[in-house]
Parts: sequence; structure tokens; C-alpha cells
Amino acid sequence: TDQTHIRNFCIIAHIDHGKSTLADRLLEFTGTVSKRELMEQTLDQMELEREKGITIKAQAVRMRYTALNGEEYELNLIDTPGHVDFTYEVSRSLAACEGALLVIDATQGVEAQTLANLYLAVEADLNIIPVINKIDLPSADPERVKQEVEEVVGLPKEECILASAKEGTGTQDILEAIIKHIPPPKGYVNRPLRALVFDSHYDAYKGVIAYVRVVDGKLRQGERVTMMATSSVTEILEAGYFHPRLVSDGALTTGEVGYIATGFKNVKDCRVGDTVTVPGAIGEIEALAGYKPAKPMVFAGIYPVEGNDYPLLRDALDRLQLNDASLVYQPETSNALGFGFRCGFLGLLHMEIIQERLEREYNLAILATAPSVEYYVTRTNGETEIVDNPSAMPSFGEIEKIEEPFMDISIFTPSRYIGAIMELVTTRRGIFKEMKYIEAERVLLNYAMPLAELIVDFYDQLKSRTQGYASLDYSLAGYQDSDLVKLDILVNGVAVDALSLIVHREKAYYQGRALVEKLRSLIPRQLFEVPIQAAIGARVIARETVKAMRKDVLAKCYGGDITRKRKLLEKQKEGKKRMKMVGNVEIPQEAFMAVLSLE
Ligand code: GDP
Ligand code: MG
Repeated sequence: TDQTHIRNFCIIAHIDHGKSTLADRLLEFTGTVSKRELMEQTLDQMELEREKGITIKAQAVRMRYTALNGEEYELNLIDTPGHVDFTYEVSRSLAACEGALLVIDATQGVEAQTLANLYLAVEADLNIIPVINKIDLPSADPERVKQEVEEVVGLPKEECILASAKEGTGTQDILEAIIKHIPPPKGYVNRPLRALVFDSHYDAYKGVIAYVRVVDGKLRQGERVTMMATSSVTEILEAGYFHPRLVSDGALTTGEVGYIATGFKNVKDCRVGDTVTVPGAIGEIEALAGYKPAKPMVFAGIYPVEGNDYPLLRDALDRLQLNDASLVYQPETSNALGFGFRCGFLGLLHMEIIQERLEREYNLAILATAPSVEYYVTRTNGETEIVDNPSAMPSFGEIEKIEEPFMDISIFTPSRYIGAIMELVTTRRGIFKEMKYIEAERVLLNYAMPLAELIVDFYDQLKSRTQGYASLDYSLAGYQDSDLVKLDILVNGVAVDALSLIVHREKAYYQGRALVEKLRSLIPRQLFEVPIQAAIGARVIARETVKAMRKDVLAKCYGGDITRKRKLLEKQKEGKKRMKMVGNVEIPQEAFMAVLSLE
């Protein structure tokens, strides 16, 4: 298609404001997917996405739309995830577009991720079309939201399109606005190929499938291409577009969005953000600006419950990484848990998703340790190192200073919750920066807060203290010196490395107490008494005891019917799946996560 008749756009929104539902309406209206084929939220293909109702992997789709001016256009829609863990996916997608629909829920108004995504879109130079969605709901207040669009987003309220993605209201207005307000691509048709890789997935037969936006020139099946960053060369096995399934039609022209099957067996040969070109053009052309590579922020150990499963776990991680370059891992050993992997994730949701996929798709029973952040440690001898595992922290005599990641966090909330939020943030070592009134009764609060405090249940606490009204966004601000100490946990006199954690000195005593109390309730009784201690260096700061088991659990069933006995045994076996023998004590999975739910 000629560039003047192409529009590339994405949909950005706070989570649950209706992106995926709106995408479905656009697919339906343009006849891309028939009503019969159209399952709810077509673009969310992964099973996990459907269950969690969130979009994890960005998806793209090409539509044909005949506008009211009688002309036919090619519209490429790129769906983006809304959760803050996946911000990097959003920025990738934005780089492939000229415009964005900014969807705002008419009953909620502007939320934290509405603004975070808006900023990314503005940074990427996109034209923005505000869409106020869910106007069918009785509690919708489109006038109020229009006002917010003008004052907070900074777009004239007349530009807002009112829509109900559920009922299909406003769909045509949105399509017309896309034609009118989003500029067509303006690439050089006659220059050598330059295409931006904005995502990829791995296919067992065709190798890495790169999702590309052709910026200059064109590409065709059978042509030799090269990746500018890695210099890998390959022949395009297949080229085509998303419908939303892959449709091979052999070529992509200037301005178009589609895919190429590269045959590469390793995603590392075809990095997201790289530029695809032809071998002859190397040296003549400049690579396209890539974008921020994903940076893992949260680290945890993942171990097979059965030591024999270690090779299976490694294969599963290898395969997950083929589709998810933001997942990083390396082998690690724990005295308590044996052989496993230290994994890096974008955030807690990402971690949860990887764990669930390992269990569901690969049928592995795994144990995960509590998440940690990455510390920059400077030793007294001047050497610095990065520590992402509390048990690997050097002993304190050798440490000059420890720096930890601090986040800029922004919270949107009705003003009646300001006090509750202040209190929560203060207990999390947050530092108040600024408060802005969005309207009479809604404010935007800004704080600096350590990431380590953010990942332990902060979001849930925030939601529960504000009856679900507050929304949160955060990004890395930088590293700062903190007075941190390592808290060791001893079970039956033996330090369990996988239970160690790094805490602020002032909170160490309190956290140590809370943790041993929690562990006492989580570690099942054994045949003997099990002391649980928290210690800083050699100093024990808290102690609890798991009392010895009095009776054999089966004794209760003595003489009872056999099925009941079998059930009990099965239940125990089930429970064992998530237990790990540490020394002579069985420790369940929950114990390793106990630190996440101390309050
Ligand atoms: P996303 O997280 O932005 O992709 O949001 P979804 O499209 O998954 O929608 C979140 C929820 O809002 C789902 O339960 C949708 O059915 C619902 N929803 C979306 N659009 C509308 C709408 O226009 N009206 C109503 N009443 N509900 C909607
Ligand atoms: Mg969605």
C-alpha cells in the first residue's frame, strides 16, 4: 500500500480502561475478524492473559478500512500491555507508530498509567487521540473526564471521542479520527531497507519471527538481510502481516508493519530494537534509534522441588527466554535449596507470570525465594560489585557502603486518602516530593521510595488503604546510599541462605521479630523442637520455637476407614511437593515468601 494510505497506531491506557475491548470493536467494524470468529479480546492470546485479563505481549493486527471519503486505508494496530512491569513493551510498540489512541475510562478518569503511557507517547512524538470509554455505564461522567483531559493531559477537550467499546458506540468516529489526525508514515521508498524490530517470538519451524516496522525501502521473501547490531545475516524465509494470525504474502513496503521469519535459532541474533537492512547497505546507512532495553529490576532464586528436575528447569527457562528477552537467569547454588537459577524479572507481575508458566506449560514443581533488588556494594578495599542475592552479601566488616535502587513513584488518589497514603509511604522509607491537585478532590502525590520497599506488598497495601481507589506508577530514579544490614534466619541452629534478606538497620529488629513469628506459623511441626532465630551477624535479635509434634497425624485415623487415611496421606504428599528438606527440617514454599506478607 502507498504510504499516504497507511496509518500505524497503538492504543494506550491505564489497565482495565478498555484497550483490548476497543481493539475488538475496531477489528469487528473493519471486518478483519468476523463476529463469529471474534472471541472476546482477540488480541490477548496467551491463556494466562485471558485468565488474568491483562495483555502481556504486545500484539499487532492489520485492518482495511474504507473511510467516509471513499478511500481505502491500511491500518496497523499494535496493542500494548498496561501494567507498569511491561512499560518497556509499550515503548517498543510506540516506536513503530505515528499515533496513539489514549483510552480513558469515563467512570475513573485519568489514572497513574494513563499519564505514564501518555508521556512515553509524547516522547515518541506520536499524535494522540483521546477516547473516553465506557460511556454506557450509569456512573460515567464524560464531562468531568473531558475537563481532566484538558487540564491534566493537555489536549483540547473538543478532541475527545466518546465511546463505549462494549456497545460499539463511537467506533466509526475513532476510525475517522485515525485517518484524519494520525499522520501517514514518511519513509524513503527508494532508499535501502531499514526496518525496526519492535518485538519477536520464537517458532520451532521458522526460527525467530521478527515483528518489524519498515521505515525505508522494502523487503521481500527470499532476500538476504542483515541485523545491524549483531551483523547476523539470513535469508527471509517468509514475510507478511498480522491478521491477527500471521498471513504470509511475501513482502512489506515502506511504512508497513508486519513480520519476517528469519530462521535464526536464537533470539540473540535478532534483538528487539535492532535495524534490519540489506548487506550491501552496511556503511551507507545509519541504524534506527533503538529504545531502552528492558532492565530486570527484581531477582529471585528458582529451584526445582525435585533435584532431578534441574535439567528440565534449565530447558524450560531457555525456551521461555526465546520469547521473552527480558527474562534473565544464571545458575546458582543454595545450601538450603540445592541447584537452581537466579532469575531477573521486570517486576513482581513478570515474576509471577514466569513462575506460573513454568508450572503450567512445563509441568514443573518449583520453589521460588523472596524477591530481592540489585545492590551496588563498595568494599572497604574500594572494589565494587553488584549483589542481587542477599546471601551473597559480603560480611559487614568488609563493606564501605551499599547503594540501593530508588524509584520515583506517583500515586493518583481521592484526597480523602492522603493521610493513609502518607502513613504507608513513611513506613516504607518513602520521601515526600510533591502534591498536585488534579481537581477539587483528586490529587497526584510524588515520592521517592526504595524499590525494595515497593516490591514487598506495597501495591496491595495501597489498594486496601484506599478502598481500591489509588493508582500507582513508578520508574527508576537512581541508586542511593542506605544504611542496610543483612538479616540471617537460622532454622534449628543452621542459617538458611535462601531466607536471608537485606533490610534497613532501623527496621531490622522489627522485621526480624515479625519474620520469625510468621515462620513459626508456617513451618510444620517436626518430631523434635525447632528453634527459629533471626540474627544480624553473630547477634540473635529474635527467636521463636516450633513445638515438637505430639501425636502421629495418622494415629487419629487408627481404626478409621481406609479412604480417609489415604486422603490424608495424599494431602501430605501434595503438600510435600512444595516442601524442601533443609538439614533435618521441612520448609514449605510459603516460608520463603513470608517476608512479602509481614504486615
Ligand atoms: P484493558 O485492560 O485496557 O485491555 O481493558 P479490557 O478491554 O480488558 O476491559 C476491562 C473491563 O472493562 C472488561 O471487563 C471489559 O468488558 C470492560 N469494558 C471495556 N469497555 C467497556 C465499555 O465500553 N463499557 C463497559 N460497561 N465495560 C467495558
Ligand atoms: Mg487488555
